[in-house]
Amino acid sequence: HFQPQVHTATGRVLGLEALLRWNNPTFGSVSPMRFIAIAEETGLIQPLGDWVIWETCRQIRQMKQRGIEGIRIAINISAQQLRHENLLLLVRGALACYELQPEDIELEVTESTAMQNPETTLSILDQLAAMGIMLAIDDFGTGYSSLAYLKHLPIQRLKLDRSFVKDIETDANDAAICTATIALGHSLGLELVAEGVETEEQRAFLARLGCDMLQGYLYSKPMPFEATIAYLKAHLATPS
Ligand code: C2E
Ligand code: MG
Ligand code: MG
Repeated sequence: HFQPQVHTATGRVLGLEALLRWNNPTFGSVSPMRFIAIAEETGLIQPLGDWVIWETCRQIRQMKQRGIEGIRIAINISAQQLRHENLLLLVRGALACYELQPEDIELEVTESTAMQNPETTLSILDQLAAMGIMLAIDDFGTGYSSLAYLKHLPIQRLKLDRSFVKDIETDANDAAICTATIALGHSLGLELVAEGVETEEQRAFLARLGCDMLQGYLYSKPMPFEATIAYLKAHLATPS
C-alpha cells in the first residue's frame, strides 16, 4: 500500500510511503506490525525486504507509465538489510532495471536500526547517500538515539513519531517534544516529516511549528496501487 506525504506549506503531495500488507486468504489484510517482527526473528526479512524494494521500483515505473511524475516513494528498511553490502547492489539493480533515478526513492530506517552495528551501517548509509538516495530516520524520538552519532549520519529527514503527534494539542510534554525535535532537526539542516496526522488541529499545530511535511489519515490511509493512482491524479491536478 502507499500513503501520501504532503508538503505542509502548499498542501501538495510530494511523496508516498510504501507500507507492506500481507493479503492472507483466511486473515485478510494483515498489518506489518504483526508480521515484520516474526520476519526479523526468522531471517525472512531479508528476502521479504529485497522483494519490497524490487516491487516498489516496479510500481514506480508503472506510475510513471500512467503519467505520474515528481513523486518520491519512501521504502522502509530493516536492520538486517543494512548489515550487508548486498543492499547497495540490490538498490542499484532495481533502479537500473526499471530505469529510475535515485530521486525516485527514499529509504527509511528506524533510529534503533541506524544505531545497530554503527560501522557497517554508517558505511552502507554513506554509500546510499553518495548514490543520491534520500535517507530518513523513522519513528524519531522513540529509540535510544545518540545525538553524537546522529550528526554523522548522511540523512536528510527525520520522521516525528506518531506517539508524539497523537496528543500534541492536549499533552504539554508531547507538544514540547514536537517543538524541540522540529527545532533540533532544522538546526541540523534536516527536513521534518510528521507521522500519524489525523486531525485538522494537529495539522495546524504542526504547521505553526514549521514541520515541513505531513503524513496521516487526515490526508489518506495507506491505499492499494490503483487507489493510489486515482488519488495522485486527483491531487496532483488540484492541490488541496
Ligand atoms: P512506519 O514506517 O512508522 O509506518 C507508519 C505506520 O503508521 C503505518 O502502519 C501506517 O499505516 C500508520 N499510520 C499512518 N498514518 C496514520 C494515522 O494517521 N493514524 C494511525 N493510527 N496510524 C497511521 P503500518 O502500515 O501498519 O506499518 C507499521 C510498521 O511496519 C511501519 O511503521 C514500519 O516500521 C513497518 N513496515 C511497513 N512496511 C514495511 C516494509 O516494507 N519493510 C519493513 N522493514 N518494515 C515495514
Ligand atoms: Mg516508515
Ligand atoms: Mg514511523
